[in-house]
Amino acid sequence: MTDKSTGQKPIKKYAFVLLIFAVFEAVALTLWLAKDNIFYLFNFSYIGVSISLGVFLYIKKYKYARRIVQLLVGLYMLVYLGLICGENMQIEGFWYYLFTGVFEAATIHYAVAKIFGPLIFGRGWCSYACWTAMVLDFLPYKTPRQPRKKLGFIRYITFALSLIFVAALFLAKVGSIERIMFWAFIIGNIIYYAVGIVMAFVFKDNRAFCKYFCPISVFLKPMSYFSVLRIKCDKDKCVNCGKCKKVCPMEVDMTDNSRKRKNGTECILCMECVKSCPKDAL
Ligand code: SF4
Ligand code: SF4
Ligand code: SF4
Repeated sequence: MTDKSTGQKPIKKYAFVLLIFAVFEAVALTLWLAKDNIFYLFNFSYIGVSISLGVFLYIKKYKYARRIVQLLVGLYMLVYLGLICGENMQIEGFWYYLFTGVFEAATIHYAVAKIFGPLIFGRGWCSYACWTAMVLDFLPYKTPRQPRKKLGFIRYITFALSLIFVAALFLAKVGSIERIMFWAFIIGNIIYYAVGIVMAFVFKDNRAFCKYFCPISVFLKPMSYFSVLRIKCDKDKCVNCGKCKKVCPMEVDMTDNSRKRKNGTECILCMECVKSCPKDAL
């Protein structure tokens, strides 16, 4: 039996959903057994189920598929891991665990989602999991209304400041750094939301924070350059109508298949361009 809308057999159509689920289950089981900690089984299973559900809804052409995943994963990380479990999943939490030499929580999170994972799934994190963008995506400027500014250097300053902040705590031998990390997570998030919302309105662009300010993009951009998963254009089908570029929140030239395409390392795999293409060329 075939699906009337795609002409594909259902099993083939949903194979990607099963693949995503299987990959996350493999990570969940490996970390559970390697670290002897059942938290990893729960954590990665939950994220795997959320993302698989999102892919399933996307295949079903449900309009809010991405937003549902973003809220499921983003809220889980912000509220459960951050506020309830007290894990600092911000960049300073990564530096903290790195300096203590512990391969736990934030270091595993960064390794999987933001450093090595992007070699496979690019900046999927930015579209489906980030709790900062989860809020910014509710704002009115889904696509930029002004030309991009040359302010990308700010991300290197915030990146350096986060490192200096944590290094200074260790060098000054401050006690109870773990407690400071918890409060840094709360205060840091409040600052991020405030700056992100102000930037969105000033630049008329929901994702201005991601383009200019976010320190995590210092990791994400170079790694996603080599991403296996990326949007590609079938030149034989494309009629150069430009509809795809009009809906892109990150101003990527997705009709250029080269790795050096305009803003190529900014693609967040939101699939808006794919949905808008009348020729199924993407
Ligand atoms: S660039 Fe930063 S703030 Fe924006 S979605 Fe990615 S991780 Fe989140
Ligand atoms: S929307 Fe499709 S057909 Fe139009 S320019 Fe983009 S890829 Fe080409
Ligand atoms: S619209 Fe397309 S090219 Fe632009 S960020 Fe989304 S997936 Fe990437």
